[in-house]
Amino acid sequence: MNKPERSARFPLGLQHLQAAQPARRAELRPTLRPQAPVDHAAREATRDPSRRASASGLGLDSATVRARMVDRLRADGVGCEPVLQAFARVERHRFVDSALATQAYEDTSLPIGLGQTISKPSVVARMLALLYESTLARGAGNLGRVLEIGTGCGYQTALLSLLSTSVLSIERLRPLHDKARSNLHGWRQGDMRLLHGDGRLGHAPWAPYQHIVAAAGGESVPAAWLDQLAEGGRLVAPMFDEAAGGQVLLVLDRTADGWRERRIGAVHFVPLKSGRE
Ligand code: SAH
Repeated sequence: MNKPERSARFPLGLQHLQAAQPARRAELRPTLRPQAPVDHAAREATRDPSRRASASGLGLDSATVRARMVDRLRADGVGCEPVLQAFARVERHRFVDSALATQAYEDTSLPIGLGQTISKPSVVARMLALLYESTLARGAGNLGRVLEIGTGCGYQTALLSLLSTSVLSIERLRPLHDKARSNLHGWRQGDMRLLHGDGRLGHAPWAPYQHIVAAAGGESVPAAWLDQLAEGGRLVAPMFDEAAGGQVLLVLDRTADGWRERRIGAVHFVPLKSGRE
C-alpha cells in the first residue's frame, strides 16, 4: 500500500562522500549481430492485435508473449507508453538462463547467478515509469543521461537504452558484469556503457545524470548519487525504511529549492554492497 507523500527529510542518513573510483571503463562497443536481443517486429505486433493472434515462428512467438506481458502491465496500471513499448521490444528470455526462458515473461523475479536476481517486470516497469514522470523527463520526452546501479544480467540496462540518450550501468560483481556485456553484445540502441565498480560511488566524470536508478537497496542514499543528480532530475532506489520495517521504493527529486522525497510501497531487492569483486 502506498504511503502519502511526505516532505523532505534531509540529509537522508548521508554516507561520507568517498573518493571517486578510478575511471576504469569497460566500454561496450557493440557490433551488429542477428541475435541482438531486441525484436523490431515486436513493436508492430503490440500495435496490431490481429498480428498477435496470427504470429508464428520463434521471433513473433516471443513478440506475442511479450505483448501479453505488456497488456498485463497496462492492466496493472502502468500507463507510461514509452516504457511499455520498451518492454515489448527487449527480449527478456535472452537475459536469463535457457532453463528459465519459459518463465521469462511471467511476472516473477528469476535467479541470474551469484545469489542475485533479475527483478520482476512489474517492479521494473513501475520504477521506469516513475523516472519518466520527473520534471526533466516530461520536458525532454526521454530520460536523458542515466546512471544505473546494479547491471545484473543487463535487462534493465537494455530497457533504459531505449528510453534515454545514454546509460552508464555499474555492476560490482565481475562475472555479472561480464554476463551483461555478453548479453548485450550486438545491442545497437543508444549510447550504453558498462562499468565494473562500486556503484555507491556513482561515476563523477560523466555527472550530472538526469536520472539515477538502483536495483539494490541500502540503508541510506550514498552521497555520490546526490552529488551526481542533475537539478530537475529524479532518483529511484529501494531503501531500508525503519518505520516500514523493510525496503520501500524511494523517489527523490532534485529541485531548484532542494529535495523532495517520497517513499512508495514495499519492495524486495538484493542488498546494495560496497566494493567490487
Ligand atoms: N537490473 C538488474 C537487476 C540485478 S540485481 C537486472 O536486470 O538483471 C542487483 C544487482 O546489483 C546485483 O547484480 C548486485 O551485484 C548489484 N549490486 C549490489 N551492490 C552494488 C554496488 N554497490 N554497485 C554495483 N552493483 C551492485
